[in-house]
Amino acid sequence: GGRLAGKAALVTGAASGIGLATVHRFLEEGARVVAVDLDAGRTAEAVAGYEGVVLFGADIRDSGQVDAAYERALAEFGRLDVAVNAAGISGTQADICDLTDEDFMDVIAVNLAGTFYSVRAAVRAMRGNSPSGGSIVNVSSVGALANFPLPAMYPASKAGVLGMTRAVAALVAADAIRVNAVAPGATDTPMLPQDGKIRRAVVELGVLRRAASAEEIAHTILFLASDESAFYTGQTLSPNGGYVMH
Ligand code: NAD
Repeated sequence: GGRLAGKAALVTGAASGIGLATVHRFLEEGARVVAVDLDAGRTAEAVAGYEGVVLFGADIRDSGQVDAAYERALAEFGRLDVAVNAAGISGTQADICDLTDEDFMDVIAVNLAGTFYSVRAAVRAMRGNSPSGGSIVNVSSVGALANFPLPAMYPASKAGVLGMTRAVAALVAADAIRVNAVAPGATDTPMLPQDGKIRRAVVELGVLRRAASAEEIAHTILFLASDESAFYTGQTLSPNGGYVMH
């Protein structure tokens, strides 16, 4: 049983934080999961004791490695129903005048291009599923929706993810593939500094005045991955503690 019983999923950023919490929730809800991160060994420790999980090391900046991860999922499970794009980086903290071309492109390469490579591979894998289709969930950020104390390339990359989510949702609707985004507020993971200006700003701007747990964000991802969200596509759900209300 479970809310994802019988479903096959692929999750990027699976070794840590929101991606890892998502893998745990998916396995508890009956899914089988290919867990993708830079270092499969680090993921292995985090999912020790769980069954139904396949580890895959890939750098999502390289589309060949992303395609190989999806090929592995199809080889293991014979199908793919759910893809979650949680891999991401926050980038260099610096004054805009000191940001280099590489600082900018590094964040775009992971958060935007890497997410695109994974979305494209997911659509290729899911197109054959008719009529059951599939669900793709992209992790954006509340920084795509509102002023956010991070250098320009982070909110730019995350707003790009929202635009891509809407565009692809429309393009693949006829294949019964749904594409949605989650835009978390401050979430307690290794990415969120334990103290300092960024943490204070993102925590205190939410009326709940705390960071989310990674599990709280995984609940929203689980909903969008499951058939419970069958009438959602091209949407952004933002668990953000009341930082942005809409
Ligand atoms: P995290 O650092 O705990 O996890 C991110 C994971 O992505 C890491 O395991 C990392 O190894 C992996 N990763 C990074 N680059 C990769 C690459 N090139 N290829 C494959 N894997 C790669 O951070 P998190 O907070 O869990 O972040 C998950 C997602 O949530 C990110 O997209 C992040 O931007 C987004 N987000 C986080 C917060 C927050 O406050 N923590 C808020 C909003 C959005």
